[in-house]
This record gives sequence, C-alpha cells and structure tokens, in this order.
Amino acid sequence: MGNQPLIVLSEESQRTSGKDAQSMNITAGKAVAEAVRTTLGPKGMDKMLVDSTGSVVVTNDGVTILKEMDIDHPAANMIVEVAETQEDEVGDGTTSAVVVSGELLKRAEDLLEQDIHASTLAKGYRQAAEEATAALEEIAIEVDEDDTEILTQIAATAMTGKGAENAKDLLSDLVVDAVRTVADDDGIDTDNVKVEKVVGGSIDESELVEGVIVDKERVSENMPYFVEDASVAIVDDALEIKETEIDAEVNVTDPDQLQQFLDQEEAQLREMVDELVDVGADVVFVDGGIDDMAQHYLAQEGILAVRRVKSSDASRIARSTGATPVSSVDDITEDDLGFAGNVAQRDVGGDQRIFVEDVEDAKAVTLILRGGTEHVIDEVDRAIEDSLGVVRTTIEDGKVLAGGGAPETELSLALRDYADSVGGREQLAIEAFADALEVVPRTLAENAGLDPIDSLVELRSEHDAEETGAGLDAYTGDVIDMEGEGVYEPLRVKTQAIESATEAAVMLLRIDDVIAAGELKGGKTGDDDDDDMPAGGPGGMGGGMGGMGGMGGMGGAM
Ligand code: ADP
Ligand code: MG
Repeated sequence: MGNQPLIVLSEESQRTSGKDAQSMNITAGKAVAEAVRTTLGPKGMDKMLVDSTGSVVVTNDGVTILKEMDIDHPAANMIVEVAETQEDEVGDGTTSAVVVSGELLKRAEDLLEQDIHASTLAKGYRQAAEEATAALEEIAIEVDEDDTEILTQIAATAMTGKGAENAKDLLSDLVVDAVRTVADDDGIDTDNVKVEKVVGGSIDESELVEGVIVDKERVSENMPYFVEDASVAIVDDALEIKETEIDAEVNVTDPDQLQQFLDQEEAQLREMVDELVDVGADVVFVDGGIDDMAQHYLAQEGILAVRRVKSSDASRIARSTGATPVSSVDDITEDDLGFAGNVAQRDVGGDQRIFVEDVEDAKAVTLILRGGTEHVIDEVDRAIEDSLGVVRTTIEDGKVLAGGGAPETELSLALRDYADSVGGREQLAIEAFADALEVVPRTLAENAGLDPIDSLVELRSEHDAEETGAGLDAYTGDVIDMEGEGVYEPLRVKTQAIESATEAAVMLLRIDDVIAAGELKGGKTGDDDDDDMPAGGPGGMGGGMGGMGGMGGMGGAM
C-alpha cells in the first residue's frame, strides 16, 4: 500500500521532467533558429513557403518565415515570439535575434552537460546581456535626424538581400522622405505610410506621393476627372435613403400618390447633396453607398464623389487634408472640410485610382511600389517595411552601429574580458554568451560562401586593434570598415535583439518540467475511455512528448 504511486495528473496528460524537458525545449528552440539561419545577411537565401491552399510566399524575412511556418511546439513558439517582438519594436533584425537565441541555447546545452546548473547559466546570461547593452551604447554613433546621407544608408542596409537590391538607391530615398513627411509632434507612426502595390512596370518606376491614393474610381462618369483647389468632405455614412427597420407598407390608391412618394425620396436625396453644396465641398469621400439619384445631383454640381471608401483610407485623407469626418451630411459645416491642391482620378498600371495630392502638410503619404510580379512586389514590400522601421527608430533614438557583424565581434571580445573579471561559474556562462554572439558574423560568412573561421579570425584581430567598425563585406569576403561602406543599423536593433534573445533563452532554460494536457479542457473526458490509453500510462511519456507539435522532424535534423 505504501509503495503505491500517487497519480495526480489525468492519464491523458503528458509530462516530461528534468534533463529531458530541458533538452526537448533546447532542441525545439535550436530547430527554429536553424530554419531561418540560411537567410541571414546580404547573401542569405530565400525560402518558398506553401500553405495548405497552395498559396506561395517567397521571402528572406525572418519573422515572415516563422509566421508562415505555422509552428505549434510551445518552446519553439517562444523563439518565434522573439522575432515578433523584434518586428514590433524595430521592424528589422528578426533573423539575427532568432539565430542568437538558438545559439544561446546551443551553448547552454554544452554547459548543462558539464553539470553547470540552469540557474547559474540564467544568471550569467543576464549579466552578459546587461554588459553587452552597455558596451553597445559606448560604441554607438550619434546621428542627427537631418543627416539624410546616413539615414539613406540605414534604409538601404535594411533592404539588402531582399529583392529590392536593384532599386535600393531609389527606394531608400523614398523611404527616408516618407518617414520624414509623416513625422509630427506625436512622433512617427509608419502606418501613415501606405504602400500601394502595383503589378506591372519595374521597381525603379516606384514613386512617393505626398498625399493619399484611394484604390477606387469616382462613382459616376459624369463627375469631373480632377478638381483643383479642392475642398474635401469625408462622410462616415451612406448617401442613400435609409431603409426602415420595420417592414413598412405604403398603400397608394392613385398614380399621383406614387409620384408624390417618389418625389419625396428625391427631395431627401437632393437635400443631402445641397448640404454638401452649401458648405462648398468639391470632393466627397463616402463610407457607404451613393444612391443613383444622389450621384446624378452630385455630378450636376460638378462634385467628384467616391463611395465605399475604406476607413483606413478615410483616416489618412482626414490626416493629410485636415478634414473632419462627419457621421451624417446633415451635420456638416465648413469647418469640417479639408483642403487638397489636386484631387484626380488617374490610371496606375491599368487600374483607376483617386489621388489626393498637393496638401499643405502631407502627414500621410503613399508609396507606389511597382514590380514585375506579385511575389516580387510582396517581397519588396516586406523590405520596405523593415526599412521604414529602421529609419523611424534612428530618428527616434539618434544612435546607430556599423553592421556586417561588427557589433557582435566587438561584444564578443568585450564580454570575454568581462567574464574574467566576474569569475566563478557564471564566468563560463558569460563566455558562452560571448561565443554565441559570434554566430552572426559566422553565419554572414557561411551564407556568403566564405570560410567562417578565416573571417572570424580576421574580424577578431581588427577589433583587437580597436577597429570597432570592422565588419565582413559579404560581397568580397574582405574585412573592412563598415562605416566607410555605409552599412549601418540602429542601435536599438541590436539591443532589442540581445534583450529578447536572452529572455527567451533564459526562460526555456529555467523550465525543468513540461506538463501537457492530453486533451483540451471541455473536450471529451477521459474517465470512461480508459481502454484507449496505452498500457503503462506515464511510462509511455517520453515518446509522446517527442510528437508534441510539428517540430519533431526538424529537431531530428539538427
Ligand atoms: P535580419 O532579419 O536579422 O535583419 P538580414 O537578412 O536583414 O536579417 O541580415 C542582417 C545582417 O546583415 C546584419 O548583421 C547586417 O549588418 C548585415 N548586412 C546588411 N547589409 C550588409 C552589407 N552590405 N555587408 C555586410 N553585412 C551586411
Ligand atoms: Mg534585416
């Protein structure tokens, strides 16, 4: 009786403890990093992702790959979150962050095997991360927000290796212009830069429109094609007769009555249009539909009207023209109108769109991105998003670092010195951290088909000689001054990557028990299904956990 095991978990739950749990989580984390490793840097390869419906994404972007991969291993997902945080905070550096995280786990695995306790590792990693952040601050280069040259170089660095290569100069100019235009006292919200993708033409025909482009046509052919010095109204409603909620029945006894009824509806529509005419609107953007009769009256008055305007477009128009959206035309006043020097319908790649341009202080801009095929444009769009993020971050923080593996090499040396001063078992963890950071220059070299050992040796010796900006030129294989080369990244891209990578690694290392519910609560209960359970219950667990999530195969490939 006394030897009877006490079972507290339902028989369907799976449990892995101690070393098994640690090694399972580490394997999953490493597998995620391995999946994106080959895409890092200017010479990184792309991935083609095909989903169950057959739609295809070709990308080099770390966070996009991980999101599309549909990973469901819980530990692997923690590493995916590293990429997501990086994307939200700075918009670039997602691959680096994940690769560093994977490497931290890999180095930790070696130390765990030497019986260094996970909490010692966690402590050492945290100390190292803190020291690393401080060291980066020291070598950061101050950038003035008016320094167009360096901002453009930062924009270009973020686009490197992402299909935007050919038109990098043009696109980085456009990105810097775009970010500067939308900046205001509240800061920079890159959502005010809308990317309008147009299939057809080549990337170098891309352009920036200071204003808004709405993917719609004017509602009636009888309306003007363009309006100069336009007073712009935004109506958050429909220009139609409202249908009554209840089924009303109108009984007419003679044709006059019917006519009277129709006249009344027309009069109501006329009134709506008159409200707009009275305040002096020349252009109207309507959230809902526009009745045929109202269209007719509007056209008669020479007003250009657009219906079913997306609310995101409406808010950009409001922002750039200064118009205030009204919830009903009855409430509109002159003060609600905005102004645009030019509103016109134009042909873009065979599609008609409405351009709202020549606004006093744009604050919302549209980047027309052209490209040969949809997949090409989509990838350039992702490169542009990264690029917008780094320019915004640089303007906000005013601090950048040279790229090409320079900061990681510098840190790696600094941390080895620091480790000596710490001593004890944490020293080993800090040294492991220093080694782990070198995964970035090593991978840059590998992906460029270079010998990583040679590259690392050269990088280390340059940094030993205080060349803090020495990085790897992935095109020639030489170690050169990245500042001279104009390869810059915002400081925050690196500090954020180190912070999230460390947090995720530490979190995974500290887990020594994984308990997974066999079935979701609320599903079929296990009580009367005992016969279906494999004999031995908890004994079958080791194998069961391996199948958790879809990463089993990838883990095995490591
Ligand atoms: P991430 O998702 O981490 O941004 P990328 O594929 O964009 O991944 O690669 C970023 C790395 O490539 C950074 O370490 C950056 O410094 C480096 N890099 C970018 N441009 C160059 C270049 N011209 N020469 C060398 N390294 C570069
Ligand atoms: Mg990048």
